[in-house]
Amino acid sequence: MHFHADAHVHSKYSRASSKNSDIEHIAVWARKKGIAVIGTGDFTHPAWLAEIKEKLIPAKEPGLFRLRPEFQKRVDAISPAACLANPVRFILEVEISTIYKKWDRARKIHHLTFVPDLQTADKLMESLSKFGNIVSDGRPILRLDSRNLLEIVLESEPHSYLIPAHIWTPWFAALGSKSGFDSVDTCYGDLAQYVFAVETGLSSTPYQTSMRIRRRGLRGKPQAMPRISTTLPCSRRQKPARALPVQLSFTPRGANIIWMVTAIAVFASRRKRLELTMGFVRFAVRRLP
Ligand SMILES: [Zn+2]
Repeated sequence: MHFHADAHVHSKYSRASSKNSDIEHIAVWARKKGIAVIGTGDFTHPAWLAEIKEKLIPAKEPGLFRLRPEFQKRVDAISPAACLANPVRFILEVEISTIYKKWDRARKIHHLTFVPDLQTADKLMESLSKFGNIVSDGRPILRLDSRNLLEIVLESEPHSYLIPAHIWTPWFAALGSKSGFDSVDTCYGDLAQYVFAVETGLSSTPYQTSMRIRRRGLRGKPQAMPRISTTLPCSRRQKPARALPVQLSFTPRGANIIWMVTAIAVFASRRKRLELTMGFVRFAVRRLP
């Protein structure tokens, strides 16, 4: 069994995002596209987090959320009949922009972070508010070293994760040529071992990303990397399924929401079996040929 996930979304509170990017519209468009698990985006923004709390409740799958019944009815009313059977789950996700100086160069790097529950979202919002204005934009800009952001995320809860965003973008990425680093290890320092995946973005295929990262001498061998959306194998059993590939699924078209699409590359040599996020999002990946 496989499902489609989009782990990088923005709400109406992020710059350059659609004003329609509210919970209901995100749910409807996820349904139309067959996306089973979608990021909430922007959970560190207080107004958006309030909307998340108003409209979502924990799903039976740990770490995931679903619409409250009254909002589910609204979404059903505006969903095409053919999509009504498609369930949608949300995962608490935010993109964070860090801007800081390291080794005499300005560094501007975007990161995706995920937390398993609303208490941790509150906690992280509070911690990060000390480093910048989290109200002005759904994608907050913080004066914080990438390594220190990762530390704060990891300490917030054992199931919190960080994935470097769109790693090849020149100006705002961990491996960006203009304001990034030459390797994920250099960017995250002694905590790089906890970075088990990267987002390829739209500027390279999974294979290209794999090759480029290897050339840059990153420890570990990056693994399966779809782009556009991410297709994950899943299992409802307690133990993660083994040796299942991740594949490119489809290209979204015609959305009136600006979708920040994502792709994930996994460094399987760092964790042979991964449990990405929680609940039924349990999966393992195998090395691509
Ligand atoms: Zn970004």
